[in-house]
Amino acid sequence: MAYTLPKLPYPYNALEPHLDAATMDIHHTKHHQTYVDKLNAALEKYPELQAQAVESLLKNLDTLPEAIRTPVRNHGGGHTNHTLFWTSLTPTQDLTPTSDLLQALHTAFGSFDQFKQQFSDAAATHFGSGWAWLALDASQTLKIYSLPNQDSPLSQGHQPLFGLDVWEHAYYLKYQNRRPDYIAAIWHCLNWPEIGKRFQAKV
Ligand code: MN
Repeated sequence: MAYTLPKLPYPYNALEPHLDAATMDIHHTKHHQTYVDKLNAALEKYPELQAQAVESLLKNLDTLPEAIRTPVRNHGGGHTNHTLFWTSLTPTQDLTPTSDLLQALHTAFGSFDQFKQQFSDAAATHFGSGWAWLALDASQTLKIYSLPNQDSPLSQGHQPLFGLDVWEHAYYLKYQNRRPDYIAAIWHCLNWPEIGKRFQAKV
């Protein structure tokens, strides 16, 4: 079974004015679709691998045939990272983390505001293309870090809770070089109930 582009759970203009409709449309129908297509092309000769969840391939990159390791890392990462991204966003603005996740963010980072600051700094200072991540490490500790390109926290043995795409294609139409403005806008769009469910599932 080939991988397919998931539908967005809201219209392209639903996150205006924070994320504009044109960016959302191109990001989903062009960029994400291309990761899906290239992942499928890479796995064409490996139907037994294509039958697996992409998350499983990313957790076990080292066990894949060498010829497809890099394409799966890049395009499989691109597919799963974007799938997680769309469902981390919601038109219901200015939600806050559920109590258990909020408590864990306090414990790990001092306060919710300090968490936001540290995450924003990781996203703003990442050089070049990549993602900032909130993830649970192998000992179920919350971590903030950035990874280059489409590398997935799953390949580090971590469970991603939320990632912010800082590739220019994610913000350039609306924000041009102003990545910090894009990062500031994203805090109005986060689907904290969904992110809280991911946290609950792992802790
Ligand atoms: Mn992207």
